[in-house]
Amino acid sequence: MTGREAEALAKVLGARSATPLAKLGLETVGDLLRHYPRRYGDPGTLTDMDRLALGEHVTVMARVARASVRTMRARSGALLQAVVTDGRHELALTFFAKRPGALRPHEEKLKPQSVGLFTGVVSEYRGTRQLTHPDYVMVGIDADDEESAMFEASRPIPIYPASSSVPSWRIQRAVRTVLDPLRADDVEDPVPVEVRARLGLAGRLDTLRAVHTPADKESWAKGRDRLRFEEAFVLQAALAQRRARAAEQEATARPPRPVGEPSLLADLDAALPFDLTQGQLSVGEDLARELSEPRPMQRLLQGEVGSGKTVVALRAMLQVIDAGGQAALLAPTEVLAAQHARTLRLLLGPLAEGGLLGGAEHGTQVALLTGSLGAAARKKAMLQAASGEAGIVVGTHALLSEKVQFADLGLVVVDEQHRFGVEQRDALRAKGRTAPHLLVMTATPIPRTVAMTVFGDLETSSLTQVPSGRAGTTSHVVPADNPRWMERTWTRVREEVDAGHRVYVVCPRIHPDEDLPDGSSAARQDFDDVPDLLELVDAEPGRSGDRAPLRAVLEVAPMLRETPALAGLEVGVLHGQMAPADKEAAMAAFAAGEVQVLVSTTVIEVGVDVPEATVMVIFDADRFGLSQLHQLRGRVGRGAAAGLCLLVSTAQPGSPAAARVEALAETTDGFRLATLDLELRSEGDVLGAAQSGRSSSLRLLRVVQDADVIARARREAADVVASDPGLDQQPALRAAIAARLDEEQEEFLERA
Ligand code: ADP
Ligand code: MG
Repeated sequence: MTGREAEALAKVLGARSATPLAKLGLETVGDLLRHYPRRYGDPGTLTDMDRLALGEHVTVMARVARASVRTMRARSGALLQAVVTDGRHELALTFFAKRPGALRPHEEKLKPQSVGLFTGVVSEYRGTRQLTHPDYVMVGIDADDEESAMFEASRPIPIYPASSSVPSWRIQRAVRTVLDPLRADDVEDPVPVEVRARLGLAGRLDTLRAVHTPADKESWAKGRDRLRFEEAFVLQAALAQRRARAAEQEATARPPRPVGEPSLLADLDAALPFDLTQGQLSVGEDLARELSEPRPMQRLLQGEVGSGKTVVALRAMLQVIDAGGQAALLAPTEVLAAQHARTLRLLLGPLAEGGLLGGAEHGTQVALLTGSLGAAARKKAMLQAASGEAGIVVGTHALLSEKVQFADLGLVVVDEQHRFGVEQRDALRAKGRTAPHLLVMTATPIPRTVAMTVFGDLETSSLTQVPSGRAGTTSHVVPADNPRWMERTWTRVREEVDAGHRVYVVCPRIHPDEDLPDGSSAARQDFDDVPDLLELVDAEPGRSGDRAPLRAVLEVAPMLRETPALAGLEVGVLHGQMAPADKEAAMAAFAAGEVQVLVSTTVIEVGVDVPEATVMVIFDADRFGLSQLHQLRGRVGRGAAAGLCLLVSTAQPGSPAAARVEALAETTDGFRLATLDLELRSEGDVLGAAQSGRSSSLRLLRVVQDADVIARARREAADVVASDPGLDQQPALRAAIAARLDEEQEEFLERA
């Protein structure tokens, strides 16, 4: 940003007007111009003066009867009081100021006998109707005649995000003062002129005028659309540059071993107890090809819950190890990291016992590195990573620590990506000698435009198919207040356990006596890590007060131990406040069948895999998000036996929460649920804390509704970056991208 937009408001408006604006974070002309109206007031048609209702926003055409300034006795300050009339009724106009001088301009305009249009909210003071600080247009001063005064007054009124010390109308005046003298050259447009011409978009100055001083609804709507495009365009250009830069980086090619030579990958394929699905094979081929290139692979693998992403990732890792490199697998929680290490060792069998007695000759090792490891275990794992002894290093964000080093890191796999930021991805990638290949896997299927927005620097592969031979899961809604249904639920649990199966019982809270404001923070408190991108924030804020308290793990577990239908069963607990070793032990006991009923918080949400688990009972299901419920439900029905998911709900029939739970019971299509989920909540929740902060990067764009805009912006941005990768011809676009990255950086630092 250069030129006029970089000018300090203090210089343009004077310190007195600029100081309060600075409190809103508005320091420069550009800041103020980008402070867009939140909505627009409708001045509507002229109001009859005999129908002035208290509290209503009105516009009247009237003649000034008298006006006078006086100082107030009761409190310090000055007051301008005017009275206007339509000949039959009177209306008072009141303006306050610190000093009488500030009111003189009004007094000069509000000359007795002159006619004007007055707009404001009707209030009452000592029995007289009045407008305080009305907007007004005087005939003969602000407008030539009554007709043009009518026009001025009929324009939509921009309503700005404001504060008590800086009301919207003050911002409106400041914006006008700044905007009126600007010429097209003063305003830099990040959207290149060719793109504007091709899409028939207005220039930036016209757009700012349309948004800040619209003549009518159509003009602000058009201006807003153009700003949405601009926002999407800048973001997509940033992402296109990121992609281009990554593609320029040098990576080590890790081609597969020729057929016939000893290979971990070939050995694994031969030993797998199942056939890979068509999808797994074809994604596998894409990965194999990209890993063979001397450019870093940059791929997002999204898949339906249970579609078998782990084995796809493992096969990629083995190809890299076969080619002499190492792979790191980054998981969002300790539970998941530990489970991944266990799963990988299990899948690899003797192949994971490289260098050990009885291990395969060319085998490798899987090391687990998490924050809570004891000093000795930690040292050992770090040594295995640094020496290259471990071909696979699994861990949480402890892996990002600078102390962790690899002999030759060739591939980074990030599982359940949405809890890792771009910065964290970069930190890991910086650990390779050359840029490591990158595979990101999402826990939940995500709609296309979200993928484009949040993971726009990655190419996408999808696994939509679930391996055959799975019986699938049926879901039912259980009303919490129906004792017979609840009783039936526990009998059903008993039957499953007697048939050799296992049962999860999920609760949103840990402690029954913890006073938490609502389900969302309860669900959140239990994550080991940063907030989740696709996780629920209660869709009905403000309703928590009148609802029954959420069920808690430490209340439900003892209750189940006392439930006659479950007599003799082992009931275990698992939650985020347990020591990591205890969490591990609880999961292991459940996996081994020593514990048959596991009462847990959402820590089991992502990726936990116990094939014998067939039933999941979710308490307060109406308080979770759809994607989260889908993810939870994906923990059962993974083996040959049919899964059953019982959604215990306290939602009022017919409420949105009830609709959500019913939608889940009716469909198992994760992509559909993800889209539905998005529609049910605000953008900030979707894009996570990084994007919803104070100086939010996404000001106007809506990920779901603006899908077309995002797609178009992506195409245009890709073209522009392809023909001019450094954006040398586009200084304004370059500046907009830099400003955006600064904001992100700032937000990241604030979060860290
Ligand atoms: P997700 O994609 O949700 O991460 P996982 O990778 O955890 O799914 O796989 C779920 C389960 O399916 C695992 O037990 C895994 O071993 C099994 N699995 C993976 N691929 C196949 C396949 N082609 N046929 C049968 N089972 C499979
Ligand atoms: Mg998984």
